[in-house]
Parts: sequence; structure tokens; C-alpha cells
Amino acid sequence: MSQNGMDTGSRGYWLIILLLSTFIVVLGAGTASALLPARADTAQEAAGPEESIGTADAADADHAEARQTAAAEDDPAVEAESEPETSLNHAVQAVSDAAGTAQDALEEAERRRRAEDWRLILVNPEHKAPEGYTVELATVDRGYQVDARCAEELTQMLADCRSAGHDPIICSAFREHSYQEQLFQNSIWNFRSRGYSEAEAIELTSQELAVPGTSEHELGLAVDIVSRSHQILDKAQENTGTQKWLMENSWKYGFVLRYPTDRTDITGIIYEPWHYRYVGKEYAKEMYEKDLCLEEYLAE
Ligand SMILES: [Zn+2]
Repeated sequence: MSQNGMDTGSRGYWLIILLLSTFIVVLGAGTASALLPARADTAQEAAGPEESIGTADAADADHAEARQTAAAEDDPAVEAESEPETSLNHAVQAVSDAAGTAQDALEEAERRRRAEDWRLILVNPEHKAPEGYTVELATVDRGYQVDARCAEELTQMLADCRSAGHDPIICSAFREHSYQEQLFQNSIWNFRSRGYSEAEAIELTSQELAVPGTSEHELGLAVDIVSRSHQILDKAQENTGTQKWLMENSWKYGFVLRYPTDRTDITGIIYEPWHYRYVGKEYAKEMYEKDLCLEEYLAE
């Protein structure tokens, strides 16, 4: 019995050992299986960068592309965004179109404003002065007359030019239409008396005098200014201190050199470094800065 008792006790002991061993094995396997994936992940992560070292840029680009494609295909948030984006593009285009139309309208309004402004009246070989154009005159330097609305600025310009040490004098200003007609007719008679035909006489006169109605002097807004020391209407006038000062400063008083040397094909008038036209300070400044003659400015 004692042996049996011992045997029984021994079997119980071994049973406990067996159970404990089984428990430890199961526990160990569980722990191992729980640990394995973690180690594998760690291994993969460790291997990842090593694998892509050689083609890091290409891999990045591929990944970026893949991410974009995935995002576009799978991400509903991105899909939802693409529609508003299209609408936004349309809205931007519509605003841009509207701005363009508004800009066109503004430019057209500006052209109309200029066309109606007395300071910008265009008179040239193709554009005659308005029929029966009348103007209130004011007397300035040496008894010459100009449109009263520009008399003050003209007087100030001459005074400042003199203060700068120069000697400007007016040699022509407002010319009455009837006076221009009379000059023109006298010249034709003169050529006829020398044996020229009527057509030849008109042609020769037109080369020297503006056809009545096509001279800015009839507006009272044009003035010929020369240096007292060089009272000849020729190209050399541009070399005088007076003209140099006027060409540089006249715009500040609202006057522009009307017939520049490089615009004769546009103005239809020879270079006249003595003929100044009043257009007002605002326009004169813009024309001077943009280097535009009146024809160009009105067509801008
Ligand atoms: Zn003139």
C-alpha cells in the first residue's frame, strides 16, 4: 500500500509536471506566434529602405504616382472634390471673360470720351475742323491770340522757359479760317500769274500752306514758338536752347510737339520743331510718356 501510495503520489507529481509542461509549451507557442508577425514586420520594414536605395528617386516617383492614382480612383473625398474644381474653373473663366468684356467697354468708353474732348480735336489733312467752329480767344505774347482755355498755361510755359535762360517768342497762333482761305487763294493766283495751270497752282500751294480747314491753327490750340535768336522755321530750330527746353517741358503745361521728326508718315506733316499743340496736362503727360503723336493716341 505504501508503494501504491508512493506510486499514486508519484503519478500525481508527474501529472502535475506534465500539465505544467503542456501549459508552458502552449504558452510558449502562443507567445511565439504572437511575436512572429511583429518580427516579420520589423524585418520587412528593415529590408524596405535597403531594397529601394538604388532607385530611390524612381521608387518615390512610382509611389507618388501610385498614391495619386489610388487617391483618384479610390478616395471618394477626392472624387467629390473634382466636380467643384471644374465648376471653379468655369467660374474663373466666366469672371475672366466678364473682366475682358468690361475692359473692352472701358476702352471704348475712353475712346469716345477722347473723341468728344475739345482738347483732342483732330485736325489734319484728312480731318477738317468742324464746320463753323468758333472759339473764345485770349490775347497772349506779342498780340497773338489762342483759345482762352489754354492761354494761362501757355503764358506760364513761356515765362518758365525764359526763367530757365531761353528766349522763346510766338510767331504764329490762332488763324481765322477766312484768313487761311485768303492766304491760300493769294498763293494760287501768284502761281497762276507765273504761268502754272490751276491744278499745278493748287498743288504747289498745298505744299507750302495747309488747305483751309486742315490747319490746327484754326482751332486756337496750336502755337508756333521759335527762339528769338533763330527766327526761321527750319530743322535747325531744334538745336536752340529754347526748343530743347520746350521739347522736354511743354507737356507739363499741356502742350505736345505736334509733328515729331519720326511720325511724318502718320501726321502727314513735315517735321516741325516749333509747332506745339495744346491737349491739356493729363493727355500731354500720357502722350509724352508713351511717345505717341495725337493720331496714335486717339487710335490707341
Ligand atoms: Zn504751326
